[in-house]
Amino acid sequence: MVHVREKHWADEIAGAILQVPGPHEISTGISPSGEIHIGNLREVITADVVHRALRERGAQAVLGYVADSFDPLRKVYPFLDAAVYREQIGRPLSEIPCPCGGHASYADHFLEPFLRSLERMRIQVKVYRADRMYKSGLLVPQIIQALKARDLIARILLECTGRQVEGDWSPFNPICQACGRMTETSVTGFSESAETVDYSCPCGGRGIASMRGGGKLTWRVDWPARWARIPVTVEPFGKDHATRGGSYDTGARICREVFNAPPPFPVTYEWISFKGMGDMSKSKGNVLSVHRMLEVLPPEVLRYLVVKTRPMRSIGFDPGLPLLSLVDEFDDAAAAGRDARALQLAGADQFTPVGVPFKHLVNVVQMADFDLDQAVVILRRNGYAVDDPAALKERAGYAIRWLREFAPPEVKFSVQRSLPPEARGLQPGQRRFLALLAAALRPEMTGEEIHELIYAVANEAGLEKGTAAFEAIYRAFLGRTKGPRAGWFLAFLERGFVTARLKEAAAS
Ligand SMILES: [Zn+2]
Ligand SMILES: [Zn+2]
Repeated sequence: MVHVREKHWADEIAGAILQVPGPHEISTGISPSGEIHIGNLREVITADVVHRALRERGAQAVLGYVADSFDPLRKVYPFLDAAVYREQIGRPLSEIPCPCGGHASYADHFLEPFLRSLERMRIQVKVYRADRMYKSGLLVPQIIQALKARDLIARILLECTGRQVEGDWSPFNPICQACGRMTETSVTGFSESAETVDYSCPCGGRGIASMRGGGKLTWRVDWPARWARIPVTVEPFGKDHATRGGSYDTGARICREVFNAPPPFPVTYEWISFKGMGDMSKSKGNVLSVHRMLEVLPPEVLRYLVVKTRPMRSIGFDPGLPLLSLVDEFDDAAAAGRDARALQLAGADQFTPVGVPFKHLVNVVQMADFDLDQAVVILRRNGYAVDDPAALKERAGYAIRWLREFAPPEVKFSVQRSLPPEARGLQPGQRRFLALLAAALRPEMTGEEIHELIYAVANEAGLEKGTAAFEAIYRAFLGRTKGPRAGWFLAFLERGFVTARLKEAAAS
């Protein structure tokens, strides 16, 4: 039997791209109209992985990121102050105030944290800001070509989408100097030599707009214009753009027939769905921003999540309990050298796991009362080597933030400094059990041994069901009826404290 090793999807895509000799530019782009969320991240990570695969093959390749900062504000999103932003609708994101007052513009407000997140994930991109691309005149040749080919573009849109554009439709949207909007103006003429466009606006404004920042191409033309100008050879995009008659279809024809350039190699990807909240969509407001996610999920794990899954398969993401399994799955793969190509493409092939499962670390930090030095001591006492305490503490930091942000209540606990009121009024059998356990505990016992001891002592105390014994332990230490696995839990606590508390609860 011939064993065929499945090729990683990024290698397949890179092989297909290299049918066309480079240099290559992979272009990603996200509109900074709201929080840039983990769903958007799939685009950038997918592009980064293809970029790596191309570079490994010796291809000359650049990873670009176009921030659509010159797009108009479409509407007052739920997270915006309506009184402030209603009048900003239709104005470019780079030209309107930021929601917090701390950034140069609305676009910067959402862009800056996202670019910082990319740095944290060690994804290096060449950043293009659309407002600067327009203002610098970079796209003037494409604006002129598009204005001249207005009828051809209208025909392409009709043939691909079945929709006829309005009679006064233009591929260029001038910004009205009177009201600042680019969504209402009509083009009434243009001058190729002066690089200007004449317009009128329903607000009563009329004037001449410069092709250097006085407006922008409409989305379906803007996209192919930048493919032709940069030029872009590879473009990943979400499945919404990939439909028949979608913006990739029309863009590819406009790129060839209007801008005389080949369209980029398309890489279509499925959504990341945020479990319990449906597809992530900025306009709906149910978002999980990338920077917030990186507080609780190490960057290498986030990259691995996207890299291990083929682009056209959906990724379900749940920041609750399943997040712990995701981190452990990553660690296990790294420890076992499994999924080696995905780890390598995720930039994690040199990663050394800290040696404590994340699920366990979530308990450890709570047992140590969030004292990370103490957590290291406890772990070492219980047979964990902890070769790299700094790495362990870094991981523990993720566990702590996860507990604060996303943990369901049942996994949270805290060891009570004095006997909790819930420990009073235990059944006689439970009190007998605690007293016997205090007497039988030995300092050198491991979690496993204490676990077995609990069953033996419960039996001796006449507790038929183990649950009554465990409940007695949790009530004595946590003031509740459930908790982490009791044997290991007790093994993690200071032994003198444990016996004293057991005796105290038994006597109360
Ligand atoms: Zn701001
Ligand atoms: Zn106007």
